[in-house]
Amino acid sequence: KQRLSVENLVKKAYQNELFFNVYQPIVNIHTNQTEGMELLLRCAISEQPLSPADFIPILEEMRLIVEVTRKSVLAGIKHLAQWYESGYRGYLSVNLSALHFSASFDLKILSRLLQHHNLPKSALRFEVTESILMSDKDTALKQFNALREEGYLLALDDFGTGYSSLSYLKMFPLDVLKIDKSFTDDIGTSKSDESLIITTIGMAKNLEMDCIAEGIETLEQVKFLQQQDCFRLQGYYFSKPVTEDFAKTVVLKNWDPIE
Ligand code: C2E
Ligand code: MG
Ligand code: MG
Repeated sequence: KQRLSVENLVKKAYQNELFFNVYQPIVNIHTNQTEGMELLLRCAISEQPLSPADFIPILEEMRLIVEVTRKSVLAGIKHLAQWYESGYRGYLSVNLSALHFSASFDLKILSRLLQHHNLPKSALRFEVTESILMSDKDTALKQFNALREEGYLLALDDFGTGYSSLSYLKMFPLDVLKIDKSFTDDIGTSKSDESLIITTIGMAKNLEMDCIAEGIETLEQVKFLQQQDCFRLQGYYFSKPVTEDFAKTVVLKNWDPIE
């Protein structure tokens, strides 16, 4: 019953266009600038709070996620254009679902829209999870290559939580690794998680991939990652995801240097 009622709420939110974008900065602690903004969806339905963990799987099951993402990216690019006008030179990072790789995802529209706003391709990138790599390798690989050929960079999200197969890192054209919060959470308490983080950072470096650490909440975590030369960080320590009006300030913020 509960599942059905959440499904109905998600349907209603879809019909009434109640999904909106929030943005979380990815901070470079070498430059102390906001290097990227990750687009995260929120739902403004009044009946009960729904988090992405509740509504994303349902949107995926109902095959509505492609349309919801399409609208949210279009809105995102408009915001990005305003940020560029005010001097921001970073990127917008968009989470994609497996369905974007089986149903065809219209890249040309995005490219045209970027062009319309005079934005470079480097201003938009995409995040995928390991489950996408697993689903249908051949189709995924084709779509990845299409994205790459259009000039977009690809990040592997939640690295280490799925069936991380090292051969995928070789097979797929990935530019960025995002170390999942479940590892960074245990900095300072688990030697084995710390070792896994250090190993992942080293591996990314050797594969010439950038590395972003997610879910950073404390100065201790920041310092640990800084010591390991992982300098692209994202988490509540810097900022929670913010709405569009506040994002304007976050993109231009000069972050306090880490001592
Ligand atoms: P994700 O892409 O790995 O996003 C990171 C999640 O961690 C976000 O949760 C973010 O709010 C949260 N987070 C970031 N820093 C911290 C921190 O320091 N502490 C804590 N406790 N949490 C932090 P959110 O927004 O609830 O999204 C959860 C997941 O839902 C995302 O994980 C992503 O997989 C999915 N999602 C969100 N928006 C979209 C979307 O537009 N499309 C798709 N396909 N998936 C989305
Ligand atoms: Mg993500
Ligand atoms: Mg993640």
